[in-house]
This record gives sequence, C-alpha cells and structure tokens, in this order.
Amino acid sequence: MDFKLTEKEEALKQEFETFFETEMKNAPPEFGNGGLEGIYTSDEGFAFHKYMARKMGEKKWLSLGWPKEYGGLEATIMEQVIFDDVRGYYGAPGVDGFAVGMFAPTLLAGATEEQKQRLLPPIANGEAFYCQGWSEPDAGSDLASLTTTAIREGDHYVVNGQKTWTTGGHKAEFMFLLARTDPDSKRGKGLSVFHLRMDLPGIEIRPLKYMDGKHVYNEVFFKDVRIPAADLIGVEGEGWNLTRQTMNFERSGAGGFSGAKRMLEELIRYTKSTKRDGQPLSKDPNARRKMVDLFIGSEVGKTLAYKIADLHRKKDFLSLITAASESKLFSTELAQRLANYATEIMGPYGQLEHGEWSPMGGSMVELYQFCKGATIYAGTNEIQRNLIAWTGLGLPRLKFK
Ligand SMILES: Cc1cc2nc3c(=O)[nH]c(=O)nc-3n(C[C@H](O)[C@H](O)[C@H](O)COP(=O)(O)OP(=O)(O)OC[C@H]3O[C@@H](n4cnc5c(N)ncnc54)[C@H](O)[C@@H]3O)c2cc1C
Repeated sequence: MDFKLTEKEEALKQEFETFFETEMKNAPPEFGNGGLEGIYTSDEGFAFHKYMARKMGEKKWLSLGWPKEYGGLEATIMEQVIFDDVRGYYGAPGVDGFAVGMFAPTLLAGATEEQKQRLLPPIANGEAFYCQGWSEPDAGSDLASLTTTAIREGDHYVVNGQKTWTTGGHKAEFMFLLARTDPDSKRGKGLSVFHLRMDLPGIEIRPLKYMDGKHVYNEVFFKDVRIPAADLIGVEGEGWNLTRQTMNFERSGAGGFSGAKRMLEELIRYTKSTKRDGQPLSKDPNARRKMVDLFIGSEVGKTLAYKIADLHRKKDFLSLITAASESKLFSTELAQRLANYATEIMGPYGQLEHGEWSPMGGSMVELYQFCKGATIYAGTNEIQRNLIAWTGLGLPRLKFK
C-alpha cells in the first residue's frame, strides 16, 4: 500500500485542517472534551453540533461520497478517509453518526427515488438529526430477535414496543427504526426499516442517566404510534438485509485513531511539563513504555483505516467485513489502553475531572468512564471477534438459535 497522498489530496487535507482548526475555536465551554457527552448533555453543546453540521453541509462535506444527483461530491474513498482522519484529530462534532454514517447509506442502498429526494438533502445540508432505534431490552447482539411491531393499518403502520440505549434520542428530531411488520415472523424475516419523527403521538422518551446525572442515552416507548406508510424504507419485510449493510457502515469509522493520536500528543506534552520525584515524567521508563505502546497502536490503527479504504476501492466486500470489525475492535481497545495508561501515568491527579489540578482538562477521566461502553456499542467486541473468525479466518459460522 502506498500511503503518499496525491497533490489534490494534500490540498484537500490542508483545507480540512484550516477549517477545523478555525471552527473548533467557536466551541462553547459546555462542549467540554467533546464526544457524545459534549454533543448531547447540554443545549449549548448540541447547538454547536448543529452549527458545525450546517457549516459542513454548505461545503457538501456531509455527503462527500454520495452521487452528485443527491447532493454529493462523489469524492473518492481516500478523500473521505482523509476527512474522517482530520475531523477525528480535532474532535469536531457536526457529523451525525446516525444520519450521515448509517441512515444515509441505508437510503442510498434501499430507498425509493421519492424517499431519496425527500430525506437525503436535509441530511446533506446538516439540518436533520437522527437517533438509532435498533436495540431492545431483550435484543442487542441478537438483534434479529427484536419484538417491537409495526403493523399495517390502511395508510399507516402502527408501532408498539420499546427500544433502549437510544443515544441522543432526547435531542434528535428523527429516528430510523427497525421493527417487525409480520408479527408471526421469526428472526430476520419480517423486519422492516422506517423513518419517523420523534414527536409523533404515543412516543415516550425516558432518560437513562449517568451516575452523575448526565443525559446521553434513553429508553423509547411506542404506544400505538402511527407512521405514514410512505416512511417505510424500501420493501416491507426486507429490512434485515438492508440493516446488515448499514451495520458495516457503523463499524468502518476511521476518525477514532486520529483522535487517540491527538490525546497521546497531549499526554506527551503533559509528561514533559510535569515533574515526579524531581524529574520530568517523560524520563520515567514506565511512562515512556506506555506511551510508545500507544504510539504504535495509533499507527497500526491508521493502517487499518487505510486498509478499509483500499478494500472499498477494490469492492472487496467480504474482506471489508473483516477489516471493519478489526478496526472497531482495535480502536475501542486502544481507547481503553489510552485511558488506563494515562490515568496510571498521572497517578492520583488522573482521577480529577475538574479544577486546576486536573491534568489535560479532565479528558482522561471522561475517556476512562466512557470507553467501557465503546467495546459494547456498534456490536460488542466479542461479536466482532466472531465475525473475524468467520469471515477472516474461515472458521465455521456460529448461529443464534
Ligand atoms: C454506550 C452505548 C450506546 C448505545 N447506543 C445505541 C443506540 O443509539 N441505538 C441502539 O439501537 N443501540 C445502542 N446501544 C446498544 C448496543 O448496540 C447493545 O448494547 C449491544 O448490541 C449489546 O447488546 P446487549 O447490551 O443486549 O448485550 P447482550 O447482547 O445481551 O450481550 C451480553 C454479553 O454477551 C456477549 N455475547 C452475546 N452474544 C454473543 C455471542 N454470540 N458470542 C460471544 N459473546 C456474545 C456480549 O458480547 C456481551 O458481553 C448502545 C450501547 C451502549 C453501551
């Protein structure tokens, strides 16, 4: 693989860097250390997310790879990876992972022409924000066992059931929902995808709060919620096939590695400017060993992200499943290593989230608490290992009963 960027790619990278470096200066204090907490726990953080989305929408950066007829730029996969890389480095919000990362690819793959024309432009312009209605209390890894129903009645589907862990459901205007349209069906058969407004009568959103009261996640209850039949995406009963394609989009993100690299750079600055036992922490052999390990991890991660781009380009979709799982697994475990090592290097100060004695603005405390969830969401890392065993190593596939 040749990692050297072309002249055009270099110029684009520079444009992205200038944009994010400039715009991130507008982040309000409530955005804090960014991430999902920065976006969803305050009105100010969400307003900044929307501001960044509109700015990027104006430049068509939310639809970089889409066909021009739907408002895209038809950028190459490498150009998209460069965008993710730079945005991840600056920790910038504005790309709604649910709308841009998951639902838009679903629409492009399976929606009717009318739906593409109606639903894609608001996503491309940074005006539509979604949440993901997949998981249920008894259906997570085994998503195909979900029980929420959407039964056709005339021009509507009537939805009853419950979703859980709905990230940002209290801020999103829309949801993409996976529900059972044939109540007698089993597993993947009889499931369908819907677009719906979160303010429809019969929807109740209950917060799932952190121990400290922060609100990022939700439970969503549906009681006789009526969705217009026009908002069934694609063909009734074919939602599982469409969803399986979307899962791969959820797993192929590249920005995580550059975000880790930026935090490592901050950690290196911290160790150079902080003394322990009379000498800089950067001279401590243990701290050095840990930082070298993180550096190698972020470089390996970058290679994985570029490998995904290369496989996309070659349309090697089977290898892509393996590579996307490798990348999800490796990036989330790298984040855990980073949080563990950084708090170990910082010693007791590493547990302070606020105040003048809190190193790196408390970002490592936040990461330490958050990174556990990352090996669970978007398909747990055990599931990713199963996928790699099956598609990458050719071992027999394990099926849910
Ligand atoms: C922070 C966070 C945000 C989330 N956001 C959303 C969201 O916005 N929308 C949404 O729909 N969902 C969301 N989820 C839900 C997420 O997708 C599920 O939690 C995940 O799929 C796991 O499902 P589960 O929690 O039911 O665990 P289970 O599936 O019950 O798994 C329990 C344990 O068993 C293991 N396990 C299960 N099956 C196997 C197997 N076949 N082989 C090996 N091990 C197995 C799992 O790895 C796990 O360790 C979020 C979750 C988290 C933690």
